[in-house]
Amino acid sequence: MGLKMDDALYKGNKINVNDDGADIKYRNLQNLQCFNCSVPVSFVHSHKRDLGEKIITIKRYFRLKQNMYHKEGCKYTINGVLYNIYAACADGDLISKDNDVFVLRLLLITDDEKLEGSNRSSEKSENEKRNLNYITIGSKEKYLSTITGVMKLRDRVESNTDLEDTLKLKFHDWNGNAFFIPWKHFYFDADNDNDYSRLSKLLTKEKRYHPLCIAGYIRSVLKINSENQNDLYKLKLENVLRADGKWVSIDLWFNGTGINNYLADTEGSKAVIYTRFSYKGNQPWTSKAGKDYISCVIAGNINNYRQILLVKP
Ligand SMILES: [Zn+2]
Repeated sequence: MGLKMDDALYKGNKINVNDDGADIKYRNLQNLQCFNCSVPVSFVHSHKRDLGEKIITIKRYFRLKQNMYHKEGCKYTINGVLYNIYAACADGDLISKDNDVFVLRLLLITDDEKLEGSNRSSEKSENEKRNLNYITIGSKEKYLSTITGVMKLRDRVESNTDLEDTLKLKFHDWNGNAFFIPWKHFYFDADNDNDYSRLSKLLTKEKRYHPLCIAGYIRSVLKINSENQNDLYKLKLENVLRADGKWVSIDLWFNGTGINNYLADTEGSKAVIYTRFSYKGNQPWTSKAGKDYISCVIAGNINNYRQILLVKP
C-alpha cells in the first residue's frame, strides 16, 4: 500500500508521469523502481471517463507492484503522511494515534460563534451532546488544515480501502456516544464508476448527519440573486450519469465573496468538498446541449474556503 507517485526510476534515470508521451513510452516498461526507495513499481496509464455530459481524463501514475512495500522512511508510505498530519495538528482530541491506527474526529464546520468553548460538566444537555460534532472556533483553523491534509492524502491513494485500516473516522450519536463512519460512507469520487450512484442511494435512503467528502469537477460558480441574501453563491459540480440512467447533481451553497474569489477561474478543475450533504429531491435541469432531464439533487453548505480542496491536474 502506498501513494500514487509522479516519479519513478528506470535504468537509474528519473522518469515522470508528465513526460511527453508518457502513456505510450512507459506503458510496457519493466523494472521500474520507486524513485525514493527503489522497490519495484509499475505504471498506470491515463484513461478517459464519460461522466454523461463531460469526458474527463483520469491522471496516470506509478504504483507499487502487488505485495510490495516501500522501505521504512520512504516518503510514499501512507503511514508517514498520516504521521505528519497527526504531528502538525498536535491536538489529540482532533486526531489521535493508537499504535499504527489514527483516529480523526469528523466535525461539522460552522460560523456559529455560540459553539465556542465546551462545557466540561458531566451532565451535558441535549444541545451540548449535539455540539460534540461541531468544531469550536478556537480549533477551527487547525482542524481545517488537518482535513485538507486528509483530503490530499485520500486523493493520492487509489481507493478507500487504502486508508480504512489505518485512519478511522469518529463521530458522535445523539447520546454523545462515539462511533466510526466507514470510508465507503465518507468519500465519493466522480472518477469512480459507481461512487455517485452509491452516494445518491445512501442519501435518498436516510439522512446522514456526519460530514462527508465529494470529489467532482467544477461546472459553474454562480451568484444567486435573492432579496435577503445579496451575496449568496452556488457552486455546481458536473452532473454524473448513473448506470441506471438517472443523473446525480451536486450543489454547494455559500455566502460571501471570499470563497467566490478562491473559486475564480476554476471551472473544469477537480475539487474535493468536505461538508454535510443531504438529498434535496429530484429536480429538472437542462443539459449544455439543451436537453431536459431530471436529476437527484444533493446539496450542502460551505462556510470556509478550506472545505474545498482544489486538486492539481
Ligand atoms: Zn518508496
